[in-house]
Amino acid sequence: MFPPKFRAKQIYNWIYQHHVDSFEEMENLPKKLRNELDRNFSIAPMKIVERQESSDGSVKYLFQLHDGHTVESVLLKMKEAVYDEKGELLHHAKFTVCVSTQVGCKVGCSFCLTAKGGFIRNLTAAEIVGQILEIKKENEIASNRRVNVVYMGMGEPLDNLENLAKAIRILANENGLSISPKRQTVSTSGISSKIVKLGEMELGVQLAISLHAVDDDLREKLIPMNKAYNIASIIDAVKRFPVNTRKRVMFEYLVIKNVNDDIASAKKLVKLLNGIKAKVNLIYFNPYPGTDFERPDPDTMKKFQSYLLDKGVLCTIRESKGLDISAACGQLREKELKAKEEVKS
Ligand code: SAH
Ligand code: SF4
Repeated sequence: MFPPKFRAKQIYNWIYQHHVDSFEEMENLPKKLRNELDRNFSIAPMKIVERQESSDGSVKYLFQLHDGHTVESVLLKMKEAVYDEKGELLHHAKFTVCVSTQVGCKVGCSFCLTAKGGFIRNLTAAEIVGQILEIKKENEIASNRRVNVVYMGMGEPLDNLENLAKAIRILANENGLSISPKRQTVSTSGISSKIVKLGEMELGVQLAISLHAVDDDLREKLIPMNKAYNIASIIDAVKRFPVNTRKRVMFEYLVIKNVNDDIASAKKLVKLLNGIKAKVNLIYFNPYPGTDFERPDPDTMKKFQSYLLDKGVLCTIRESKGLDISAACGQLREKELKAKEEVKS
């Protein structure tokens, strides 16, 4: 027979509010149920195997999963805590956790290190949620302090839609971490049909589109999947996406020196976004050994941004948070894989 429903609430509470590591610690559960849970389930599906702190306070984690594969997550400190002169806390620190949704990725973007190792497998909902839970525990972020979540680590979230949706709902549950979908952002390379599907699921999440180029020819070179889902189809899907009235769709534009950093591109971008409540986020390309692409000059970035702002398009430049710990996704994992190969040979 199934245990009564309220037990689920108690278990949620132990895991997400009290951060327990074993079922044994769940004192208000009957011993028999604790044993049964212990035999059939595990609380921590992964462990932190590496941690790198950057000078700006962001921390990059490498998680090892039960089958030995590894994924990365990043904890970004968005705002420091503020205290008054008596030492009383005025505002809590604000955090964003950037999580992975797959081991590797099928999309194969030419600028992305994650893509180089190909696709290995989808993460389960538990492994997606686990990244946030473990990072909160490790940093002693109080259980009731909510963090923002961005699905912008390794992998293409919409290629793992079922587990992604499950994770979004688990994180949002009020007996758990209570991270409202409004504070969860799904970043996609633009699988148009899945954007529409995600919208139809009415989860209430925020959307970020990795656009990176304004012509299909160039976008195809950067993101091969653009052949199947071209720019027009993505814009069409975005227009159908239910956006919270107070929010905007974020368009990420990875700026690569002499590839897409010209004002003609900025001009086309303004045209493309006409009629959409959008916000553009310019990202510096983060180079890694073996790539031919280069990081753009700060001056070029600012000119690109100014052009958009002048035309009334909201635009920010993503601070190079964590640059000194090689923040672009896939770089910590790459180091770990290389180290393993060296040990083998
Ligand atoms: N697959 C999803 C989410 C994960 S990739 C997507 O593509 O949106 C998250 C972001 O990392 C993307 O916007 C991508 O452009 C960026 N990225 C990948 N390689 C990068 C690099 N070398 N430098 C800077 N950003 C990079
Ligand atoms: Fe996959 Fe995103 Fe990397 Fe492209 S940028 S290969 S979609 S993880």
